[in-house]
Amino acid sequence: MSEVHVFPVPEATAASARVNSATYNEMYQRSIKDPEGFWGEHGKRIDWIKPYTQVKDVSYDPHDVHIRWFHDGTLNVAANCLDRHLATRGDQTAIIWEGDDPAKSENITYRDLHERVCRMGNAMRDMGVKKGDRVCIYMPMIPEAAVAMLACARIGAVHSVVFGGFSPDSLANRIQDSECCMVITADEGLRGGRTVPLKANADKALESCPSVKHVVVVKRTGADVTMVQGRDHWYDAVTGGQSTDCAAEEMNAEDPLFILYTSGSTGKPKGVLHTSGGYLVYTSMTHEYVFDYKDGEIYWCTADVGWVTGHSYIVYGPLANGATTLMFEGVPNYPSTSRFWDVVDKHNVNIFYTAPTAIRALMRDGEDPVKKTSRQSLRILGTVGEPINPEAWMWYYNVVGEQRCPIVDTWWQTETGGILITPLPGAIDLKPGSATLPFFGVCPVVVDNEGKELEGATEGNLCIAQSWPGQMRTVYGDHERFVQTYFTTYKGYYFTGDGCRRDADGYYWITGRVDDVINVSGHRMGTAEVESALVAHPKVSEAAVVGFPHDIKGQGIYAYVTLVAGEKETEELRKELVKWVRQEIGPIASPDVIQWAPGLPKTRSGKIMRRILRKIAENDFGSLGDTSTLADPSVVDDLIDNRPG
Ligand code: ATP
Ligand code: MG
Repeated sequence: MSEVHVFPVPEATAASARVNSATYNEMYQRSIKDPEGFWGEHGKRIDWIKPYTQVKDVSYDPHDVHIRWFHDGTLNVAANCLDRHLATRGDQTAIIWEGDDPAKSENITYRDLHERVCRMGNAMRDMGVKKGDRVCIYMPMIPEAAVAMLACARIGAVHSVVFGGFSPDSLANRIQDSECCMVITADEGLRGGRTVPLKANADKALESCPSVKHVVVVKRTGADVTMVQGRDHWYDAVTGGQSTDCAAEEMNAEDPLFILYTSGSTGKPKGVLHTSGGYLVYTSMTHEYVFDYKDGEIYWCTADVGWVTGHSYIVYGPLANGATTLMFEGVPNYPSTSRFWDVVDKHNVNIFYTAPTAIRALMRDGEDPVKKTSRQSLRILGTVGEPINPEAWMWYYNVVGEQRCPIVDTWWQTETGGILITPLPGAIDLKPGSATLPFFGVCPVVVDNEGKELEGATEGNLCIAQSWPGQMRTVYGDHERFVQTYFTTYKGYYFTGDGCRRDADGYYWITGRVDDVINVSGHRMGTAEVESALVAHPKVSEAAVVGFPHDIKGQGIYAYVTLVAGEKETEELRKELVKWVRQEIGPIASPDVIQWAPGLPKTRSGKIMRRILRKIAENDFGSLGDTSTLADPSVVDDLIDNRPG
């Protein structure tokens, strides 16, 4: 590997940040050595109705896996996100909503948000929704999505948000899996100037969902939709006459808050269950420390509320902290590829959190769309979702942040509830492509395939040795799958499914899913490393690498490569790329096959589905598995048709 550049914490950032490197070390050591004491103290950052006396009750023993935090305390999550701010910041903006149409935006204060949530909570109670009932939210990125989530939390209902890009079938599967009694949706969504037929999709899904008794429909575009008498209700009609008082249900810390299905890049989505107390403590704490959030700052996470990032870092974490959180309805390239930066300037965004896939897509368009905006308000940048290639990191750092803004590369999962491995901007020096060091209370361990813990600089399977409050509690309705997936492969640990490398400084480098690690002539290689080398070539825009059976090497390297707009797919370039990777990493990493890929199969959250690419590389088209979470299934046929050789 070419030499890694280290970006030290700027002195000014260290001086003003919540933690510097000394306080990080001190707090981290304490959190690991005395988790009960550490979390017992930090659990108090939220408001409890009945304070907890117990902090932690956890077992990773496969015969008795259970995870409980603060389990004799009671609270209400929505009251923590709303009511407790009313006296001090009722008139402060809670949500800035930026519409798909750049001419449309709205500021919603904490007081206003509280009223809307109470009205919706009362409406839901009127329709018979009770504590513990499951409610499906299938919405565009409009404030009512957050209102619906918080209204569920207020009355103790368990929400299951399904991303608005999912098909009727995928929606139906998720509704059936958790037997939702209500669906909250909109007539249509609006993204990049195009409409999404949410209500029509929901109608199709509901043909096979007998558990659903009521559908609440927000009018977003005013499109003509079918309303089923007795079942379907307009949001305005059911909330309009309601009182703005709505008693918050007293919930046990371990009562479920929500179910969320994983993005499905490795197989059938799992219904990840998160509970109330520990989740809120963990998301609010990570939001404050990882983004070094300061009162009054404008914070923007570009994720969709349909993903865990939207749950933890658009809604719950920021609102629990009394922050101003921006919610964006649109897409990065509409009306132009300057949109993100236009929005940053329009609302003076200080903290900006997005995904590598968005950064790579914007890089394709060059620096001009960025440079014509100011971005002076930006202070901290963040990424999540996939390993970020050093090339994309450098572009984000130099072009977007003008070398002024630390980048927090946050590694975590739907299962972890919140960020586990990440730099803290004032405390941890950065290395492009590394998620760096663990957050408080998080004990990463690297194990070999036999489960033996490896010391020092090493590479292997990433596990977590102790529990943290934001950890998922079970797979909804299938505790056995929870135990099997996470606690049986390596005894005594939570297994993340990801591979990683730990360098001599103790920094973690996520190398991709363990299933994606390739073994070439006995050398283990993460797909992320080869992909990063390819993307570093000026003519390459995106790359996905998988292994395939190879007579001599055991596994060979198969690379799918998307070129920068306007570049020609020539034999010469193919040879040049092989040579390039040899130079960047070494001969062992030379791709055996390069297939040109105008598009790559991605989940609807923008992650490359290497599982499918592996099947194509193996020439095994019969068993592509569950493809229902693909954003554009036609990409797959195209790759199969154009397979070389
Ligand atoms: P499924 O579990 O259904 O296959 P998924 O793993 O894609 O879906 P998520 O929970 O959304 O669903 O994604 C978590 C995964 O994303 C992590 O396990 C990791 O592989 C990857 N990831 C997230 N953030 C980072 C990051 N900063 N660096 C590297 N990888 C990351
Ligand atoms: Mg996963």
